[in-house]
Amino acid sequence: MNREEMINSVNLNKDTYDFIVIGGGATGLGTALEAAARGYSVVLVEQNDFTKGTSSRSTKLVHGGVRYLAQGDLPLVLEALRERGLMKQNAPHLVKDQKFIIPSYSWWVKPYYTVGLTMYDLLSGRLSLGRSLPYSRKKTIKCIPTLKTKNLNGGVVYHDGQFDDARFGINLAQTIVEKGGICLNYTKVTGLIKTNSKVTGVRVKDELSGKETEIRGKAIINATGVFIDNIRKMDEPKADKMVCVSQGVHLVLDKKFCPNDYAIMIPQTSDGRVLFAVPWHDKIVVGTTDVMKEDAELEPKALDEEIDFILETAGRYLAEEPTRADVKSVFAGLRPLAAPEKGSKKTKEISRGHKIVVSEAGMLTITGGKWTTYRQMGEDVINRLIKKSDFKQTKSNTRHLRIHGYKKNVDLNDPLYFYGTDKEGIETLAKKEKYTASVSKSLKIIEAQVIWAVRYEMAKTIEDVLARRTRSLFLDAKESVAIAPKVASLMASELGHDSAWEAAQVATFKEIAKNYILN
Ligand SMILES: Cc1cc2nc3c(=O)[nH]c(=O)nc-3n(C[C@H](O)[C@H](O)[C@H](O)COP(=O)(O)OP(=O)(O)OC[C@H]3O[C@@H](n4cnc5c(N)ncnc54)[C@H](O)[C@@H]3O)c2cc1C
Repeated sequence: MNREEMINSVNLNKDTYDFIVIGGGATGLGTALEAAARGYSVVLVEQNDFTKGTSSRSTKLVHGGVRYLAQGDLPLVLEALRERGLMKQNAPHLVKDQKFIIPSYSWWVKPYYTVGLTMYDLLSGRLSLGRSLPYSRKKTIKCIPTLKTKNLNGGVVYHDGQFDDARFGINLAQTIVEKGGICLNYTKVTGLIKTNSKVTGVRVKDELSGKETEIRGKAIINATGVFIDNIRKMDEPKADKMVCVSQGVHLVLDKKFCPNDYAIMIPQTSDGRVLFAVPWHDKIVVGTTDVMKEDAELEPKALDEEIDFILETAGRYLAEEPTRADVKSVFAGLRPLAAPEKGSKKTKEISRGHKIVVSEAGMLTITGGKWTTYRQMGEDVINRLIKKSDFKQTKSNTRHLRIHGYKKNVDLNDPLYFYGTDKEGIETLAKKEKYTASVSKSLKIIEAQVIWAVRYEMAKTIEDVLARRTRSLFLDAKESVAIAPKVASLMASELGHDSAWEAAQVATFKEIAKNYILN
């Protein structure tokens, strides 16, 4: 992936692309891959870095949604369970089987959830990840020794998928490029071009160089998550609100709070939701919340009450109750939920399914859905658009398309496992060019990963490297601030920037990191 080459190619191209996708999150990336894999020409533009928005801030679950089953949304669960299986098949280096335990403190919990979760297993059919089973008190404590034991009578174990969201996004962008598509980060859509009342292109600004240009496309796809209404207003200034913004927060804790490879699922919180505590890169991710927000923003901030709610709820189940001092990182994400026909304040009751709307001028907008269903959303978008006669007719071929880095049976104890087949390249680069030194001992990051991110993964800022290529900002925000100068210096030497650039980068990063640090 070479940004400069792709920009030149867009500038030189006087033809009209088949598709222009606005937004480089899960939805946009899934759509652009669907188009590129079928042989269409496609350009994806992202105003910041790939997955900078919601798509790097999920709970990291590849799941059918046990909660949606309880709500009776069977079509959504069936779709997500199938996609869960496909994601694991197509990117086994990033998606793994995760065992969850629902701890039981009442007589009815074990039979109730064993029956419900057996249904969940049956719905996943051939793509099931394993059987749900009731566990005794002894077995439950063996799997999660940190649980409160008073009145504990056992638990129910079930399986779902778990992944690295931002790394998946980067690998999707690489797969799009390998299929002939173009993906540009730091390229913001500032306006739409219309010809005879139809949207025929976009005006974009390169956020790094300040240059502006126009790109023409037969179909324009608005996949900007919580920002879709801004783009819709460029098309129809009086367009109705199509998205509801709901914030969800996660806290990252030390692994000691859940030391084995079992995740905890708390099925009934005081606000009627579920809470997860999931092992992730040697830490525990705990969340989430559901708070309606008026406005969309790229760096949403966790509210004190959301932080307290997560700590309190986790503390009701864990023998050692976590406090603010234990939080290594806190991050907030905004759900782009399809707005219900009649406004509702209860976002947990708004369907998590996706919604597609095509405007009179022909621009398609997609919202809702989940990371897990990104591929199906892309397939639905392209199928809808190629109904128009000026497209060649094709069928989807992404169900079994391997994602960049595809590697089976990775060693999860290897700090570089999530690179899949790229791991060897990083090790060779480290040895050949003497980038073997450690950048962070606790986060197990070496210099070669920074260089690799710049050369092959289009990282342009230290935040790109620390937040989305290595995930360190999400895992340990203070440690990330400590290593920021080292990362800036490595990037500056690779990109040819001066010390002023380094200083500015570190200052900007420190400002962003403040939101992730609690103590
Ligand atoms: C707290 C939380 C937990 C979640 N957990 C899970 C989970 O465990 N599993 C799961 O499957 N799903 C989960 N989800 C849902 C999932 O994360 C989202 O559905 C998905 O990431 C949305 O992706 P998106 O591409 O639509 O939006 P985004 O990821 O926000 O992408 C939209 C992009 O558009 C870009 N953009 C905006 N305006 C412009 C412009 N003018 N020009 C160019 N680009 C622009 C933005 O910068 C942004 O990067 C969770 C969501 C939240 C909030």
